[in-house]
Formats: sequence, C-alpha cells, structure tokens
Amino acid sequence: MKIYQNKLEGVILNKRAINVSFEFFPPKTDEMEVKLWDAISRLQNLKPSFVSVTYGAGGSTRERTHQTIKRIIDETDLKPASHLTCIAASKEEIHEILRNYWEMGVRHIVALRGDMPASSPNYQLHPDGYQYANELVAGIKKIADFEISVAGYPEKHPEASDFQTDIDNLKRKVDAGATRIITQFFFDADAYFLFVERCRKAGINVPIVPGILPVSNVKQTKHFAKMCGAKIPKWMDEIFTNLDEKQDTRQLIAGVVAIELCRILHDAGVNDFHFYTLNRSELTTAICHILGARDETN
Ligand SMILES: Cc1cc2nc3c(=O)[nH]c(=O)nc-3n(C[C@H](O)[C@H](O)[C@H](O)COP(=O)(O)OP(=O)(O)OC[C@H]3O[C@@H](n4cnc5c(N)ncnc54)[C@H](O)[C@@H]3O)c2cc1C
Repeated sequence: MKIYQNKLEGVILNKRAINVSFEFFPPKTDEMEVKLWDAISRLQNLKPSFVSVTYGAGGSTRERTHQTIKRIIDETDLKPASHLTCIAASKEEIHEILRNYWEMGVRHIVALRGDMPASSPNYQLHPDGYQYANELVAGIKKIADFEISVAGYPEKHPEASDFQTDIDNLKRKVDAGATRIITQFFFDADAYFLFVERCRKAGINVPIVPGILPVSNVKQTKHFAKMCGAKIPKWMDEIFTNLDEKQDTRQLIAGVVAIELCRILHDAGVNDFHFYTLNRSELTTAICHILGARDETN
C-alpha cells in the first residue's frame, strides 16, 4: 500500500487536455525584441490557444503593440489578442485602432480601462472617451464582432469599495459582450476559488482563466502587486529571503512556487491557464510541460 503520494502524480497521471495562453509586452529596444522573439518562438511550440500583447495605458505603446501583433500575424500561426486600454483616449481614436486591427486580421481584444500614468499627474480623462471597461466592451462590439476578454480581480480591484461592487462591475463587462475573464495574478489559490464562487453566484458564467505569474523577482512583484491590489503572502516573501543576488536559486524556487499553485488549480478542475510570461520562456515552458502542454518538436 502506498503511504506517501507524490502530489505531482495526480497532474501527470490525470492527463486532461489543458489550454494555455501567453501574455507578452511590446519590446522597447532591439535587444528586448530579440528576447521577445526568442520567447515567442519557443512558446509557440506549446500550441497556445492565443497569445496576447499588452498596451500601455494612454496609448504609450500603441505603435509597438501594433508592430508586435503584426509580426505575430506575419511570421507565426499563433492567434493574437491585442490588449486595448481606453483611459485618456477619445472614442474615435479607439474605433480607428479597432478598425485597423480588424483589417490586419486580429479577432480578439483584451478590453481594459487602464490606469492614469503615475508619472503624468496632469493626464485627463477624455471628455469623449470610454470611462470604464464595460463601456469599451460595448463600443468594440459596435465596430466588429471581436472575441473579447476582460480583467477580473480575485483579490478585488484596488479602487472598488468592496468585493460585491467589483463583481457587479465585472458582470457589466460580461453583459456587454465579454466571453472570457482573465484574472490578475494571485498566489493564494483560495482567493481564486472564492472569486469564481462569487462570480457564479452573481450570474457570471463565462470562463474565468487564472492569470499565472511565475515570480523570480519578488521585489519587482511586490511593486506590481502594490499597484494592482494583489497580495504577496508572507510565506512567499520568506521563501525568497536573501536570494537577491542568487538568480539561479530564485529561478528554481520560482518554478516550484508556480507549479504548486497550478497543481492545486488543476486538481480542482481548472483546465485553462494564462501565463504572464514577462517575455521569457523558461519557467512558463516548465510549468506547461508538467501540466501537459508540451513542446513535441526535437
Ligand atoms: C488580464 C489583465 C491584463 C491587463 N493588461 C493591461 C494592459 O495591457 N495595459 C494596461 O495599461 N493595463 C493592463 N491591465 C491593468 C488594468 O488596466 C488595471 O487593473 C486598471 O486599473 C483596471 O482596468 P479594468 O479594465 O479592470 O477596469 P474596469 O473594469 O473599468 O474597472 C476599474 C475600476 O472601476 C470600477 N468600475 C468599473 N465600472 C464602473 C462603473 N460603471 N462605475 C463605477 N465604478 C466602476 C471597478 O470596480 C474597478 O475598481 C491588465 C490587467 C489584467 C488583470
């Protein structure tokens, strides 16, 4: 009789088909472009359902996002999803971007409000703009029949007064036409499960895909987490203590932490995973391999 069961055994033996998708950000320099394309060329072998490219709020990466999406269309068989933020833009600007994307062959938009850039306190909401993502979703649907994903927050969006208000706002995005929710990153699986339960209770029935951030730089992640309302549990801080200068060790621990989170989600029946790759392939490839999304090329 077996007394100890390896927890990964369930993931390996219980071979359910899983769907993965990957998020990239548009590169700023030639060197970053090379790194991004190295990551894309490796990760495409895992046959993601789609790959998404972020968009700087206020349109700060408009050209770079566009170029990255265009290169994905021209040089790969991947299905691109373009992020689009509406804050500080006029409706007409947004419509023009959408028409352009549709012409290029983009059929999937990740529709977001975005944030006012902290470095530009004088940024103004556009008087003829979309104020919230639910308005943007409705606007997109009027331009063309894009598939639309939206953002969800297992630990609550920082501006929302309480969970229920945030979920009500999320429901508005789904009612306006979004067919997938991609979550903000989280490290506490219970926060995700509770969030899904709250959404289902509110009548939100679209897939809620967990956003997985494989963390190897906890300092940087703390900074992101502070801005977006995600929590860094104490154990996670502890596990990376004194490793600032030990990148190899950090990388291995990062893999273990992310695999454990994915294992718990998989165990509970989650089949779809969205990875915040930070334009790197190693950790994402390893996690996907364990989950069963594998590179079958030699
Ligand atoms: C998967 C994912 C991808 C992302 N990609 C990007 C990206 O590419 N570029 C980028 O700049 N940022 C990105 N973000 C960050 C995102 O732009 C911020 O979190 C932003 O603060 C909120 O965007 P949202 O689309 O969720 O906004 P919304 O859904 O509009 O919500 C924003 C806040 O307003 C509240 N709210 C919504 N509707 C109403 C209403 N009608 N009345 C009152 N309050 C309301 C909500 O509860 C919430 O607190 C991403 C986030 C996620 C999770």
